[in-house]
Amino acid sequence: MDGIKSTEENLKAAVDGETFEFKEMYPGMIEEAKEENQSEARISFSYANKVEAIHAGLYQRYLDDLGNNEDTPIFVCQVCGNTVEGAAPDKCPVCGNPKEIFNEIK
Ligand SMILES: [Zn+2]
Repeated sequence: MDGIKSTEENLKAAVDGETFEFKEMYPGMIEEAKEENQSEARISFSYANKVEAIHAGLYQRYLDDLGNNEDTPIFVCQVCGNTVEGAAPDKCPVCGNPKEIFNEIK
């Protein structure tokens, strides 16, 4: 029971952290990069921001699934860090790289 409880709390903390990053932190950084014409910084913050939103959704699903022992493979894009459940997409929806760029993690 204690183990499950702390996993649940860790996941909740992770969802809160990711939600803060994509709702508060990155949008401000993207705006700043725009104002200063730093297009590379703007692009990488935009990637990071999309990925944080995806991570928040993923953690939320883990939280919902907690206790259902489902063994879903996870694939991570090596370019932008995008994380996908089940199977790698043909093309990364965040950075556009092909599925070969995805690594499966357990
Ligand atoms: Zn990607």
